[in-house]
Amino acid sequence: MPAAYTCDGCGASLGAVDELHRESTTTGRSWYCGYCRTSVPNAVGERLSHHRDGSPTDRR
Ligand SMILES: [Zn+2]
Repeated sequence: MPAAYTCDGCGASLGAVDELHRESTTTGRSWYCGYCRTSVPNAVGERLSHHRDGSPTDRR
């Protein structure tokens, strides 16, 4: 099942990369809630951005 992240700011269930706002920085990427711009943990953003056919931990 998809591991959705619940936003700390607005309580939205963020389960897809298009519900996030991504910003590129000099050190990498930062992720924010697409609704209220509360910061989202980097691991969550990366996981959702790599979301493919249900494999939960493909970066190990
Ligand atoms: Zn939010």
